[in-house]
Amino acid sequence: MKRTAKILTFTLLAGMSVMAFAGCEKPHEHALTKNEAKTATCTEVGNTEYYSCECGKFFEDAEAVTEITSGSWVTEATGHTPVKYEAKTATCTEVGNTEYYSCACGKFFEDAEAVTEIEADSWVIEKEEHVYDKGVITTGSTATTNGVKTYTCINCPQTKTEDVLPVVGGVYVNSLEALVTAFANGGTVVLENNIVSNQRISVAKGKEVVLDLNGYTLSGAFNNQGTSALLYNEGTLTVKNGKVVSLAQYPDVDWGEEGFPTYASNTITNRGGVLTIEEGAIIENETNVGGASYAIDNQYGWNGAPSKVFVNGGLIKAKDVAIRVCASTKDYDNYLEINDGTIVGKRAIWIHLTGSDASVAPKATVVINGGTLSCHTAEGLVIYSYSYGNSFANTNVTINGGTFLNGWVAFGGGYTGDTETVTVNSGVFEYDVFRYLANDQTEIIFSANK
Ligand SMILES: [Zn+2]
Ligand SMILES: [Zn+2]
Ligand SMILES: [Zn+2]
Repeated sequence: MKRTAKILTFTLLAGMSVMAFAGCEKPHEHALTKNEAKTATCTEVGNTEYYSCECGKFFEDAEAVTEITSGSWVTEATGHTPVKYEAKTATCTEVGNTEYYSCACGKFFEDAEAVTEIEADSWVIEKEEHVYDKGVITTGSTATTNGVKTYTCINCPQTKTEDVLPVVGGVYVNSLEALVTAFANGGTVVLENNIVSNQRISVAKGKEVVLDLNGYTLSGAFNNQGTSALLYNEGTLTVKNGKVVSLAQYPDVDWGEEGFPTYASNTITNRGGVLTIEEGAIIENETNVGGASYAIDNQYGWNGAPSKVFVNGGLIKAKDVAIRVCASTKDYDNYLEINDGTIVGKRAIWIHLTGSDASVAPKATVVINGGTLSCHTAEGLVIYSYSYGNSFANTNVTINGGTFLNGWVAFGGGYTGDTETVTVNSGVFEYDVFRYLANDQTEIIFSANK
């Protein structure tokens, strides 16, 4: 009995021992490593968060509950999403750019498909240069000190300046009395300040005066009820670098059925002289429309000489007519030549034959090579010729250039049969060039081309 019991005991113990051994082989416990989620970029793949174990398995969760296959966490690269930047023209104040595309990833492309990558700022177009006007004298010189001329960009407020040297040989004047005396003597007359005049200032036949306004203004207001002119030229007068302006308080308004005006109140009357307006000059007449009053009145020849006006620049401006070409005789050519500058009025130019005798054909010549002529308001008459009855047979107009705005160029006003000789070789016309004919007919000489 005892022996048997021993064997049983042994067997039991051995069995227990086997069981204990089997308990040492534990199942594999995953040791998970977390792989952080990574956002995909334009060019690189990303991934969702996942866990991996040394055993080669992958899981969605930290508890190794949901096994996933290798690579299932990959998110595709997004590709570039280029945003278009429109091309922009450079100005003198801002750089411009060619068209380009930008992606949020920081890369830039020439094309919407992001095929051609470009460097940042490779699209930049440098600023344009400033384009300066012809400049005005903002501080006049004196006989001993320099003045200042200021140029302003025509596209922005940028300015630049340069010195204006004293006018060599110029007589500097600072009063009306000194101005009148200097005109009588002739030569170059330079204003040292603004001057107000209540009288006509004349250049006599045979005298030559250059009026350098030196940035200042010569002005006059006339209260007489007759002919007036602030400047009167029978000699040779050149005006530059400042303003001449006049106002007639009692202009002759006898137009229409009440009769024609018998006198004119002008800023400059040129009679048998040579008048030249240079760049920088402003010749203005402020007299109200309705009066016979002109910024420049080129009167018929006088005293053995024709009247000639040359406009090489500047501004000729009037509420009514800016320049009148007033012809009454064929003995003297009444000559007007526009090479540059701006002429603006209710009419820029009026060619006026003053007589009523059809057997008389006063001589007038107008040559326009450049400049800008315009009306204050649209559909006016930029150039207008009118006769009370004199023949236009000796009136010649040649247009080789220039810009004509806001109104027609019209010939043959008061048509009596003879027509002007009009030649248009070139020019920019906002409205037609035409001629009035009998019976209210018109004839187009040159068609609008602007
Ligand atoms: Zn594992
Ligand atoms: Zn991108
Ligand atoms: Zn500019």
